[in-house]
Amino acid sequence: MTGVKDTSPTPMMAQYIEIKAANPDCLLFYRMGDFYELFFDDAVEASRALGIALTKRGKHLGDDIPMAGVPIHAADDYLQKLIGLGHRVAVCEQIEDPAEAKKRGAKSVVRRDVVRLVTPGTITEETLLEPGRPNWLMGLARLGGAQGAMALAWTDLSTGDFRIAETAADRLLTDILAVEPSELVVADAVFHDPALKPAFDRLGRLVRPEPASLFEGTTAEERLCRFYGVATLAGFGDFSRVELAAAAGLLAYVGKTQLASRPALSRPQRMAAGSVMLIDPATRASLEITRSTAGKRQGSLLAAIDRTVTGAGSRLLAVRLAAPLTDVGAIAGRQDAVAALVEAGELRRAVRASFKTLPDIERALSRLSLGRGGPRDLLAIASGLDVAAEIGALLDGRDDLPAELAVARDRLRALPPAVARNLDRVLADEVPLLKRDGGFVREGAIPALDEARALRDQSRRVIAGLQATYAEETGVRSLKIKHNNVLGYFIEVTDAQAAALNGTEDLRARFIHRQSLANCMRFSTVELGDLESRIAGAASDALRLELEAFDDLCASVVDASEALQAAAGALAALDVGAALADLAVAENWCRPQVDDSLAFFVECGRHPVVEAALKAAHAGPFVANDCDLSPPGAETAGAIWLLTGPNMGGKSTFLRQNALIAVLAQAGCFVPATSAHIGIVDRLFSRVGASDDLAEGRSTFMVEMVEAAAILNQAGMRALVILDEIGRGTATYDGLSIAFAAVEHLHEVNGCRALFATHFHEMTALSKRLGRLKNATIRVKEWEGEVVFLHEVKPGVADRSYGIQVARLAGLPGAVIERARQVLAELERGDGQGGRPAAFVDDLPLFSAVLRRHAPEPTQTSPSSPALEALAALDPDALAPREALEVLYRLKGLLSGRGG
Ligand code: ATP
Repeated sequence: MTGVKDTSPTPMMAQYIEIKAANPDCLLFYRMGDFYELFFDDAVEASRALGIALTKRGKHLGDDIPMAGVPIHAADDYLQKLIGLGHRVAVCEQIEDPAEAKKRGAKSVVRRDVVRLVTPGTITEETLLEPGRPNWLMGLARLGGAQGAMALAWTDLSTGDFRIAETAADRLLTDILAVEPSELVVADAVFHDPALKPAFDRLGRLVRPEPASLFEGTTAEERLCRFYGVATLAGFGDFSRVELAAAAGLLAYVGKTQLASRPALSRPQRMAAGSVMLIDPATRASLEITRSTAGKRQGSLLAAIDRTVTGAGSRLLAVRLAAPLTDVGAIAGRQDAVAALVEAGELRRAVRASFKTLPDIERALSRLSLGRGGPRDLLAIASGLDVAAEIGALLDGRDDLPAELAVARDRLRALPPAVARNLDRVLADEVPLLKRDGGFVREGAIPALDEARALRDQSRRVIAGLQATYAEETGVRSLKIKHNNVLGYFIEVTDAQAAALNGTEDLRARFIHRQSLANCMRFSTVELGDLESRIAGAASDALRLELEAFDDLCASVVDASEALQAAAGALAALDVGAALADLAVAENWCRPQVDDSLAFFVECGRHPVVEAALKAAHAGPFVANDCDLSPPGAETAGAIWLLTGPNMGGKSTFLRQNALIAVLAQAGCFVPATSAHIGIVDRLFSRVGASDDLAEGRSTFMVEMVEAAAILNQAGMRALVILDEIGRGTATYDGLSIAFAAVEHLHEVNGCRALFATHFHEMTALSKRLGRLKNATIRVKEWEGEVVFLHEVKPGVADRSYGIQVARLAGLPGAVIERARQVLAELERGDGQGGRPAAFVDDLPLFSAVLRRHAPEPTQTSPSSPALEALAALDPDALAPREALEVLYRLKGLLSGRGG
């Protein structure tokens, strides 16, 4: 070598760089011994994201190589954090024994390859998943250019559930958010379509653009057939071309991330168009169906009603609640199951008690089929099958079961008994997490394994015996037989004692010197060497036999995956049915009558979340209220209730509770009411509360109007519309006019059932003109100057809003409250237009101070300056906040004009 520095990478770094180049958009977890190491930018990124040390290892092109590592045993925790932060991780393992690599030469590198890409939608590890939440991976396909047909396919790899439905550009976001996927895969071209940009922007980083070839339409059917190992999809149902493209694209992405492993996905289930209630994203968010507005499960409708015992049951309830049905028969099927379990109290309690010990069969099965399972997953299947048999026995012999429960019973009966028998026979009662070190096969299950184990254990005992013999023979009482990976078994004595091992010819021949350390010496013997190889042989035989047994058991489970999935699905449905029945009994919920009419009648309805919150806070009972939006008389369009009432009276609560009752009823649940009759709602709209969308550059009022526009443009006869305080975000007259026109439009054009809450009491006059519009109000009582909220909804009109009383309760300063009362009295004495004489404005403390400072001869009746004239001509109520600001500037200009 001359003085030129060698900058070529080491063989290992060369391998790393090649693998990283093939996975540029992932953090690469590169396996080295007991660690996953990250290098270069990945290391910097991971150390920042995970708070782990950034070190360095060797040099590349003359610079230090940054490195960070995570230990294998804690890798799941780190993965979870990285996935949560939106990263994707490529897991690169050693795919050969290091001994093999050595045979190729001292410098050769162990072969490594990426075995899996970990992405938010493809995780299956128990530690990375929420037990009660499905983890959907979704694919979007579009065939035939910008105006082409679109379809969505979604699967939960952790359970094998797989669904397909057509969609359209105008309801894309609605359909996607109804599923709440963790990851959405779309073709590049679709991702970059400007028309869809707002939807993808809203979904943010969960959208994953991929090459268009994944969603290619012409080969889709063939690819699906190959995945399922069938010659034709005829037995799967009728799918459109774009649906097939979505499904095949999704499977292609699954293949790309799971590489060698093939997940056990059930056959795709087609969700027919119009089979679920459409709930647009704003409505979904405002009604807090599966998540609260803070994005949490807690505080949502789902959390309030979820009494399921198993993770699978909880997931199914979430799916049902997120997508209420529109088919009367299917809804009745679910209701029948709940009703039967309401009646059969003993069966319900027994079933629920059994569920407590039911493991997550679906998720264990999915890990086993992906080759990621461990002994505990096998044990989960084994005990799952035992519990399934127990529950099957509870259902057996009952001929009064409704269809859904009869199907569950039949599926439990159809479980192959051999699988359970085999697992019970082979698996130990307690098993380790990983199969790596064995120790999970029951004693007596496999004779050859028992032999190998006996030999291994016996040899260990022989070694203990040998130590005693050697100690006696040499007279060195503290002689020890130890083991390490380099020498294997060896005898260790101190330097001083070593002489005793060299004492006689015979001893010298037996104790062979191996190593001298600072203060001890190590020896071995032929016997010890023999024993060593017997132990090693027996241990590796035992491990090999255990791993073979694991593979056999795993194969028997995967072979039965269809029956297992069906049974697991049936158990989840049973858990949901029993949980809803339990809720109905405990909380007095009723079975709603659901049919194809336009009825909407709820007797003594309650808001499940508010009621539960009041109960938890011991804050008095929830006041039940009726609601009737059924078409009056012979009318063929729904009624509208115009609800006026005091602030804090319970208007929003009443509006939402009726929307939630519709959701619950069509999800197949019982409802919090004494009776209910709901004609199918095909679309639910809710505009409740105000929020900015500053990121989108939309003000509160703009957001409100966009949402109102969607409702008025889209609500058909079967829709249910909930509108709360439309028109509050602008000047009074603008808002009032918009609210008027919106109600007229709902009545005359949309013809849907609607609840409209407002503080514009002027609107109640509309009921004289609009036949299906009814006024309702919320009762309050005034008592010793205090307002008492009765939360009772009754026909009629509110006399006032009690805003000032509520403001006082909220803690506004006393002076402000007092002043507000004066102003209100003035306004109410006014001319019906809000009473705004200049005198009154002048009287306001703020303005009088301003005026006194600037007006030379302030008179209250005849303004004598341009500023005062302008002020007198003002109609403050007609000003938007922005205009008011402009007016202030103008006034200031006028005043300073005078001064200058
Ligand atoms: P605002 O006009 O100020 O927005 P609102 O009329 O919409 O008020 P809500 O927000 O629905 O009032 O209700 C206010 C509070 O009153 C709720 O948080 C709840 O605690 C209580 N409440 C509402 N309805 C009922 C009811 N039916 N029974 C008991 N308490 C109720």
